[in-house]
Amino acid sequence: MKHVYLSYYLQEESPVYVGLKKPSIQSECSIPRDGYNTSIISVENHSGTHVDAPAHFLEEGKTISDYNLSEFIFNRVMLWECEKNSHELVTVEDLLESHLTESGLDNVDCLLIRTGFFKYRKNNVEKYLTHNPGISEDLIHYLREKFPQIRALGIDCVSISPYTNPASANKAHKTAFLGSEDFNGDTCSEPLLLIEDMKLQAVPKNAIIEKLFIVPWQLKGVDSAPCSVIAQLK
Ligand SMILES: [Zn+2]
Repeated sequence: MKHVYLSYYLQEESPVYVGLKKPSIQSECSIPRDGYNTSIISVENHSGTHVDAPAHFLEEGKTISDYNLSEFIFNRVMLWECEKNSHELVTVEDLLESHLTESGLDNVDCLLIRTGFFKYRKNNVEKYLTHNPGISEDLIHYLREKFPQIRALGIDCVSISPYTNPASANKAHKTAFLGSEDFNGDTCSEPLLLIEDMKLQAVPKNAIIEKLFIVPWQLKGVDSAPCSVIAQLK
C-alpha cells in the first residue's frame, strides 16, 4: 500500500487563477531575534489545490464546513485519461468514446480527469493559467443524471472551465452545484464537490486508487478551501 499526494504544496510561487492575489507567507518572528519562528500566511481560498463547494456560486449553497468528514472520503475512484489541448472541453462525446460508461462508472464515487495539462504548471505558467482546458456543462449535467453516486470531480487544470470562456465557467460551476430540486431531471446526484489544480501526475500509469481523502483546511463557513488530497494506491 502506498500513499501519494494529489495536491501541490502551497507557496508564494504557486500559480493562481488570473486576478487572485498571490499567496504570501511572511516571516513574523525569527529565531535570531525572537528565539522561535512564526509566519503570517495570507492566501485566497481558491489558491493551489483546492475544493470548491456550492457556496462558491450559490447564495444558499453548502460551505466547506457544512460537510461531514466522511463526505471527503472516497472508496471507488476512477482516473480518466482524457488528453486535452489549450481551451478544449472534456465532453459527453469524449466520455462515450472512452467506454468508461460500460466499464463500471456505475460504482464510481469520485471521477478524476487527467487532461495532461499539468505539464505546463511548472514551465509555462502563463499557458497553464490562461489556456487551460475544462469540463463542459453538458458533461457535468450528464454525469449528475446518469451517475448520481458520483460526489466529486477533479481535474489537473487551474479551473474546471477554460479561462477564456467565463460564461461557460459560470454555467459549468452552477450545473455542478445546483440542488437536485433545481435540476432539470427526475433523479440526479447531490451537488458535486470540485477539486481544481490537482497533481494527477502523481498517480503512476495503470495504478489503481483504492481510496481518496480530500483534506480541506478546517475553515468555518467559507465557500471553498485549499486542501490536501491523498490517494491510497493498491
Ligand atoms: Zn475554485
